[in-house]
Amino acid sequence: MVRECSCPRCKRPPKTLVRLPPNFKCADVICDFCGYLGQVKASTVRDIDQLPKTVLGAAWGPQQERMSSGIYFPLFLVLATKDMAAHAIYYLAADLQRAEMFVPRKPLSETARRAGWTGFIYNLEPVRAALVRLR
Ligand SMILES: [Zn+2]
Repeated sequence: MVRECSCPRCKRPPKTLVRLPPNFKCADVICDFCGYLGQVKASTVRDIDQLPKTVLGAAWGPQQERMSSGIYFPLFLVLATKDMAAHAIYYLAADLQRAEMFVPRKPLSETARRAGWTGFIYNLEPVRAALVRLR
């Protein structure tokens, strides 16, 4: 779905943003014109015009390490209704992200398949005003 958007950096016509292979850890899409990297998060919502308060993130460890190095990636947030009938794409530039929007979750319990694994959630409240709707 992010392919429908123009690259936020080079502003070329849509279709320059292409998906990276799943083993590529830090980013999900790259612009095949200018090399711009971005992360994509998808979430199902009831109303695509309303930003959710939180969105499920990924592994906390690598995120924490990147933040302590001051590294943030641009974020594309794809909101879709459960039946996929409607969707919206929001964008958050890397330089507008803040540490408090990344909130670690409780480590998975001993009985879980990935015991001890810790994820994080995106808290969108502190950056609500910085999120731009692209579509
Ligand atoms: Zn580009």
